[in-house]
Amino acid sequence: MLNGKRVSFWILWVGAICGWASAPLRAQIRQGPPAMGIPQSPSLVGDTSALALEAQEWLVELIKINTTNPPGNEQAAAKYIAGILTREGITPELLEVAPGRSAVVARLRNSVVPDPSKALLLVAHMDVVGVDRNKWTVDPFGGVIKDGYLYGRGSIDDKGMLAANLAAFIALKRGNVHLNRDVIFLATTDEEEFGEASLKILIAKYWDKLAAGFAINEGGRVVVKNGKVQYVGLQIAEKVSVNISVTATGKGGHASRPSKDNPVVHLAAAVDKIGNYTTPVRLTSVVRRYFEGMSAIEDDETAKWLRVVDTPDRGEHAQRVLSDMNPTWNSMMRDTIAPTMLQAGVRANVIPSEARAVLNVRLLPGDTIDVLVNDLKKLVDDPLVKLEVMPNGGLAAPNSSMETAFYAMMTKVCAKEFGGAPVLPYLSTGATDSAQLRLHNVQAYGLRPFPLTDEEEGRVHGDDERLPLASFAKGVDLITRIVAEFSVSQ
Ligand SMILES: [Zn+2]
Repeated sequence: MLNGKRVSFWILWVGAICGWASAPLRAQIRQGPPAMGIPQSPSLVGDTSALALEAQEWLVELIKINTTNPPGNEQAAAKYIAGILTREGITPELLEVAPGRSAVVARLRNSVVPDPSKALLLVAHMDVVGVDRNKWTVDPFGGVIKDGYLYGRGSIDDKGMLAANLAAFIALKRGNVHLNRDVIFLATTDEEEFGEASLKILIAKYWDKLAAGFAINEGGRVVVKNGKVQYVGLQIAEKVSVNISVTATGKGGHASRPSKDNPVVHLAAAVDKIGNYTTPVRLTSVVRRYFEGMSAIEDDETAKWLRVVDTPDRGEHAQRVLSDMNPTWNSMMRDTIAPTMLQAGVRANVIPSEARAVLNVRLLPGDTIDVLVNDLKKLVDDPLVKLEVMPNGGLAAPNSSMETAFYAMMTKVCAKEFGGAPVLPYLSTGATDSAQLRLHNVQAYGLRPFPLTDEEEGRVHGDDERLPLASFAKGVDLITRIVAEFSVSQ
């Protein structure tokens, strides 16, 4: 095909599911000569709207399968996904992680001898967090469509992406294209609890089935402001979650004879000091690049501060202003400490002998918990109060590279998808499975491909989580284009 002349051909994508076979989906894969310098787009995917509608059906069904974690019960979702893949002529594999909990993996090969360093992994998790049913206006597991939204726990986090990944993967198969790398679809378990059925266990047991050089996962953002996409954040690094327990001890006894060593009082004083402590700012290279990009699109007042955030004379003041303006930005600039749990006492008239608090700490990549704990010990300065790092903290992983061809390509395709919106590297304040992947040398990039307002994104893990259907269709389109562009041979 590489004869120097631009050749286009049509590939028929057969929609074979749920009656879609009568309306075949077409995609155009246009091939061209290798260009000098920046390569031109090797593939132009056609209209994906029918594919998105099909994927929307899958998403509705996935929401109806209650995978609240704990206990997860992802096996039912895994079987549903395996059924879809099987009908497409793809052979899925269910990977047992724990009783009732299976991941699904499937692979489209470019050759009989796999080259894991080139492979692309599409990963999304099947489990969801719990709901407070009374606060929902619809059944959170009903797959309800209303006013252009699909309501449901997991519609945004992360079943939307799961369905979009599945669509992109199946599109490749239907296109019958020649791949330049293996493409692996993976639906994982236990992401929300990061427990004994999570990706770390999957990797330990089945790495040879998952190994890849590149991955697309959740963790990024397509931010909608004033009715249009303001920017796309591609997550290349994430903060690390660690819990610290704070324990105050005393003699305890009858509340009618209080003494100075009441653990409730000592704990309260310690939590007060910690809660009001401001950790130092450290601007990582990713955050510098992000702020620089944001300064070009924010309003004049905000942009003014963003531009000087890293300067010696006005930097400190700017950091304060920006921290107050936006809690996400605050968290992107420093380690944060949030006291989240308090425990003390069994009776109103008994002074307990112990009182305990839990702090959830989010470390910047590269910072260590021991340094922070030492600072906090000095701050609390109370021999009756003990601070201890709790087990099962997150792992500090290296950043994914901003220099890979994949990153450059994603940047280009995202910008095109959203009318030239800037695409910025992003440090997510929340943790994702990508840390596990990055620790295994995978260049993992976080992208939640659905354009969402702050209000919509704020419903993740909250009440009435709902995904705008138009945003879902956009997300399916974007992922399909990224995957095709990266993995279809020129
Ligand atoms: Zn998630």
